Amino acid sequence: MSDGTIFLLFFVLTLTILFACIAICFPSRDSDDGLAEECLRAPVVLPNFPHARRQQQAGEPPACAICLDELRQGQLCSEVPACRHIFHEGCIRAWARKKNSCPLCRAKIYRGGTGCR
Ligand SMILES: [Zn+2]
Ligand SMILES: [Zn+2]
Repeated sequence: MSDGTIFLLFFVLTLTILFACIAICFPSRDSDDGLAEECLRAPVVLPNFPHARRQQQAGEPPACAICLDELRQGQLCSEVPACRHIFHEGCIRAWARKKNSCPLCRAKIYRGGTGCR
């Protein structure tokens, strides 16, 4: 084996380690995050209002399908515009960050309140 070959071998090995180090230190960032994260962080604007039992049927206490707790008079609630299902404001806001559909009927939860589908 000549000196030249050994040097070349050493050079290639060094280069390989260097590339491996770069790959470990700088994982590809723009594949998953980027746009997806931007989208997740976009505020979901749903109409919210203190709950009032005006349109509910008698005898059936309205409940939030997410936490299964009762929707109490005066509690801050949000409604999904597409289907008019009502949930606690905090519950549906947290839910809408993960899924863009109504937990009850899977109707689309619009983002931005402008009805982008
Ligand atoms: Zn709830
Ligand atoms: Zn619904």
